[in-house]
Amino acid sequence: MSIKQSLLEIKNSLPETVTLVAVSKTKPVSDLEEAYAAGQRIFGENKIQEMTQKWEVMPKDIQWHMIGHVQTNKVKYMAEYVSLIHGVDSLKLLKEINKQAKKYNRVINCLLQMHIAEESTKFGLDLEELNSLVSSDVFKTLENIKVVGLMGMATFTDNQNQVKKEFGTLKEVFSSLQSTKSTNLDVKILSMGMSGDYKIAIDQGSTMVRIGSSIFGSRNYI
Ligand SMILES: *Cc1c(COP(=O)(O)O)cnc(C)c1O
Repeated sequence: MSIKQSLLEIKNSLPETVTLVAVSKTKPVSDLEEAYAAGQRIFGENKIQEMTQKWEVMPKDIQWHMIGHVQTNKVKYMAEYVSLIHGVDSLKLLKEINKQAKKYNRVINCLLQMHIAEESTKFGLDLEELNSLVSSDVFKTLENIKVVGLMGMATFTDNQNQVKKEFGTLKEVFSSLQSTKSTNLDVKILSMGMSGDYKIAIDQGSTMVRIGSSIFGSRNYI
């Protein structure tokens, strides 16, 4: 199937409440242009340098989502244009995003990444860290960021019950965070689900899925 066909098939299968992020990491600009021509406007990348190179050459009505782990010293390269940063997992990083956003007179939307998988290799906050972050005095002073929701990745396993349970847990945390009040907290996006597990994620309440290989084909490297 072509990129266009795959994209449209997935898009048409999603409920209206779910936003599709087309994960184009490692793929050439020509692949992104094909998705763009088919109407896709939200792209996800996991390396800041690669995302910036694509941003420079592609149409300016694209929303660029950073879905990978972000190093503090690289935030400055995307602060001008990034539309949503999914993988924020420390106050230190949030402070740096705030500082760089200020230079462009912007408010950058962020998702806090929660650790829900059983693998210890995946990044993210636990519940206690989440609560202490959003209730800290420093957090409340950050005027150039807005936390608009949560992101999480389930364990890479064939055990669908486990994946379902992990996404269900994240949805509960998401719902409870919605009652936390702060001027820079507006919890509405729950980013969960990839090519292999997005249907389960949607059943568990996802509002944003990040799909790469099912649209663009398999990748040669991560
Ligand atoms: C690569 C990646 C995806 C997309 O993965 P696919 O299995 O190709 O759909 C989604 N989320 C994150 C954080 C990723 O790094």
